[in-house]
Amino acid sequence: MNKCVINGGITYQQVRCPSNQARKEPTLEELNAAEKTRETLVIRLAQCSMSIIQAARRVPVWFQPFSAQAVQNKPYPPRPPMQITGQCHCGAITFNATVDPKKVLVCHCTDCQRISGAPFRAVLPTPVEDVTISGTAKHYVKVADSGNRRAQAFCAECGTQLYATEADAPKVLNLRLGCVNERAELVPQKQMWGESAIPWLGQLPDLPVHAKGVTSPLISPGIARSTD
Ligand SMILES: [Zn+2]
Ligand SMILES: [Zn+2]
Repeated sequence: MNKCVINGGITYQQVRCPSNQARKEPTLEELNAAEKTRETLVIRLAQCSMSIIQAARRVPVWFQPFSAQAVQNKPYPPRPPMQITGQCHCGAITFNATVDPKKVLVCHCTDCQRISGAPFRAVLPTPVEDVTISGTAKHYVKVADSGNRRAQAFCAECGTQLYATEADAPKVLNLRLGCVNERAELVPQKQMWGESAIPWLGQLPDLPVHAKGVTSPLISPGIARSTD
């Protein structure tokens, strides 16, 4: 039996089908249940020859690590509360916070895509009283069609995006995961605005992965495998 540990600590097991007939692929409900309980999810494959990597590609994109090295020996993110630190690229703004790792989420909305300049954005919603910021962020206020006003905070010096919050009476800071030092341990727990998600995100695991720049060596497909 092959065992495959995927980012987030969920264990997938390849189970041989004795008759080669039973077909059971993981349903969204099963994936969600496994996500909640962190228990082993058994995937029975349609064909015994199908590799576990192919099966794993059917799970939501954020289950799929970009680098095997990044996830090997990584425990599931610690339970709350967790102390984190972060800063902008130039260092003019730093922050520390007490956060709940279960709240990390990925947003695929078009505003996040455009404002971040990235295919999606990951955020860590944290009550404002749990965040201490040093330095002054500049705010760009985004006004939604509904009239909702969101302040998008960034460093005026280097442009690093730091958080978004209610423009008029901040209650929760959606800390941008990219500027949090502990980001590798903060695994997203859900995704939203999937309707506008970039469709090629799911193809990333099929692409070659270089350890550093494109002239550096390739690394493994991104899924740590062990055999028992
Ligand atoms: Zn800066
Ligand atoms: Zn968004």
